[in-house]
Amino acid sequence: MTNSIKVTNPATGELIQEVKVNSEDEIKQALKNGHESFKSWSKINAHERSRLIDAWSQKIKENKEELAHIMTLENGKPLKEALGEVDYSASYLDWYAEEGKRVYGRTIPAHTESKRIIVTQQPVGLVAAITPWNFPGAMMARKAAPALAAGCTFIIKPAAETPLTAIKLIELAHEAGIPEHVIQYVNGSGKQIGELFTESEYVRKITFTGSTPVGKTLIQDSASTIKHVSMELGGHAPLIIAEDADLDFAAKQTIATKFRNAGQTCVCANRILVHESIVDAFTEKFVAEAEKLKVGNGLDSETDIGPIINEKGFDKIVSQINNAIEKGAQVLVGNKFDVDKEKGYFFIHPTVLKNVTAEMDIMHEETFGPVAPITSFKTIEEAVEIANSTPYGLAAYFFTNNYQTGTYLHENLDFGIVGWNDGAPSAAHAPFGGMKESGLGREGGLEGIEPYLETKYLSIGNL
Ligand code: NAP
Repeated sequence: MTNSIKVTNPATGELIQEVKVNSEDEIKQALKNGHESFKSWSKINAHERSRLIDAWSQKIKENKEELAHIMTLENGKPLKEALGEVDYSASYLDWYAEEGKRVYGRTIPAHTESKRIIVTQQPVGLVAAITPWNFPGAMMARKAAPALAAGCTFIIKPAAETPLTAIKLIELAHEAGIPEHVIQYVNGSGKQIGELFTESEYVRKITFTGSTPVGKTLIQDSASTIKHVSMELGGHAPLIIAEDADLDFAAKQTIATKFRNAGQTCVCANRILVHESIVDAFTEKFVAEAEKLKVGNGLDSETDIGPIINEKGFDKIVSQINNAIEKGAQVLVGNKFDVDKEKGYFFIHPTVLKNVTAEMDIMHEETFGPVAPITSFKTIEEAVEIANSTPYGLAAYFFTNNYQTGTYLHENLDFGIVGWNDGAPSAAHAPFGGMKESGLGREGGLEGIEPYLETKYLSIGNL
């Protein structure tokens, strides 16, 4: 294939498949088709749309093993995590198949007997999505399910590293009976497709998950046609362990939130803040758990930590480790790599750093890798100050069994998602999203369908 994306397995560097890059004309035609099909899809009643989304979910469940296998091949995550992601993706379809039936309007008492005031909600139109490689199924499902349920049509550009999961999901949607132009994909350069999406008169909404700089560009570019925008952007999650926390429980939960997907998640703990009186005890337990994690090919059932997605990601993580060491951090475990630049695979063993300070890059930049920096605090107020000292505001975690400490932390942490004694708060029925430079809007829950709806107010007079 001449103009194609080479999708490789990050665990081996081997080519999996070549995917056709769409031409500008093909992308424009797809946008036109999505716009045209909006006219019929938006008029189908919500119960019928729900039935089709249910049928899609059923197909995903029937093809769970194949989908998870594709995901592990192109993303590298352990198969057990990929199987979990397939279930998690389907849970968004299940939730929004139901939620689409509950897009209610309202009537407002009028100020005169001769009027009636009615408020209805209608779908925004064609939705264009751009998604990252770290959750190739779930990041799409969280957008496509509410969009289709609301009556919008949908087009996606998946990440160049992981287009195969999205392609398979869309094939299954079509097999389930969702019309071809109601849900579509295109592939190619993010920059070029981003520009085609944002300048298109047919696209009424841009929904993006990815890095904050790209999110800012998409918001700016959407301004020329005043499109709706939803942004799920970067994070730099603090994880606070209070003096009274159950340390065994906190250590296990911190391992899960830090090392899932080899630390390549937007909500993974990026700064571990531990009360000074327990920092040594916690660190000992945490390191013991980190040492148990097995690094390897995600297809191997023993694997806990798969590869880093690419060389750029690897270089960034290694530079953060080196910067921390240069500035005085101590390596307790890890800082070990299995790398073959020629073949194209990059593994980083779980790394725990102690004596981390605010001057180190890792305390400011998103790491996106299996590195856990530990620092200590004296008071809970100081912990909040450190936690909030970032432009990001996606997820935060804390461990305490003291309700006053917990309530204080909940109320003072400037983050959209907060886990209290919970390292895995995400669920289809709860609103996921960030404050500050971590995003705009929420995905999941009641809130997740609102960004796909317009409010229309009707005033009937002369009665
Ligand atoms: P990225 O570089 O922003 O890429 C994400 C997507 O944007 C890819 O499809 C990419 O396409 C596309 N893209 C790149 N440049 C673009 C441009 N100029 N215009 C339009 N689209 C463009 O992010 P990433 O490094 O792949 O993903 C990791 C980031 O995503 C992290 O910051 C992470 O925190 C964030 N994330 C956030 C959430 C959340 O829910 N808040 C969830 C997951 C990940 P190509 O692949 O073709 O470059």
